[in-house]
Amino acid sequence: QEFRAINFGAGPGCIPDSVLLEAQKELLNFQGCGKSIMEVSHRGKEFEKVIQETKSNLIKVLSIPDDYDILFLQGGASSLFSGIPMNLCESPNDVVDFIVTGAWSKGASTDGKYFCKVNKVADMEPEKFLTVTDPSQWKFSPDSTYIHYCDNETVHGVEMPPSTPDHFPEGRIVVCDMSSNFLSKPVNVSKYDLIFAGAQKNAGISGITIVIIKKSLLTKTKPSVPSVFNFLKKSQNNSLDNTPPTFNIYITGLVLKWIIKEGGLEEMERRSIEKSSNLYKFIDGSNGFYRCGIDAKYRSRMNVVFRIQDGNEQLEEKFVKEASKHNITDIKGHRSVGGLRVSLYNAITVDQTKKLIEFMTSFMNENK
Ligand code: PMP
Repeated sequence: QEFRAINFGAGPGCIPDSVLLEAQKELLNFQGCGKSIMEVSHRGKEFEKVIQETKSNLIKVLSIPDDYDILFLQGGASSLFSGIPMNLCESPNDVVDFIVTGAWSKGASTDGKYFCKVNKVADMEPEKFLTVTDPSQWKFSPDSTYIHYCDNETVHGVEMPPSTPDHFPEGRIVVCDMSSNFLSKPVNVSKYDLIFAGAQKNAGISGITIVIIKKSLLTKTKPSVPSVFNFLKKSQNNSLDNTPPTFNIYITGLVLKWIIKEGGLEEMERRSIEKSSNLYKFIDGSNGFYRCGIDAKYRSRMNVVFRIQDGNEQLEEKFVKEASKHNITDIKGHRSVGGLRVSLYNAITVDQTKKLIEFMTSFMNENK
């Protein structure tokens, strides 16, 4: 659709047109029930079908083993920064290992300190989050209750390699924030004990956080954990012990069907590699007009963070303005980092990325 912006926003980000059109088609009359999906009981047969189908499609696309459960929670991915230690730690004396590679793992460690003792296995803040120290240098606590890391740092554009958990001490509980690269590649779920992701990047709209949790972890939840945070209670009640964000779960269901139709996570990964490597290659070949300061080993396929002329703010502002004339939007960097950030979530096509590179080329030729 011509009027649709090429939306490179970091989240809430773009959603495939066909998903929005499907939601629009069913908006007034969901599968003939005479109501929208927003207007039916979360315990009724229509929604029961939606949540079951969403779960089973998630199991299918990620090949989630039988010994895992899926929870749909509210409060955003940020709520898990306290929800996880509340459920997994026995006492505030428990030590949790955090690998701090950007704003979101830092955020998790900051909230975590109200519930546990925080050990920073590595803290990349002094390096401005531009790289990650070699795993051989990581300083794990000898007896941490779990290890927390963020697979993709949305603000800083740092993505961890899939081999990351292989460097952890054996037998440790592994918790991973996959909010911004969830459903962008196949994942070996069995390497993790708990994966969580806010939906508003590749999995739908803001308002739900998806948790994939090893069932054996559920026994750790103490009865004193409040029910909105209580993983055991959520699991026992199919995430329906209180009213879940029904429309959001429905949208995630539509996104999963779209992913399956498009070829699954292998295809999402193939596209994300093509899109991001085209863009990084162009940036690196621009003779320093554009520059991505992130260590090539850790560059994110999802969020490409870069500067123009090493931080020429006037030119960066002009870039954003001119881009909008080409229907290219939401490319300003996070306020804490500055510069520019292009997010290449699943709904962004290879062609749209090429259009961006064309614009970047002409902008460079006119302004260098
Ligand atoms: N973790 C990551 C990696 C994120 O990108 C975000 C949000 N952009 C969050 C956590 C926090 O998510 P929410 O805003 O849903 O609380």
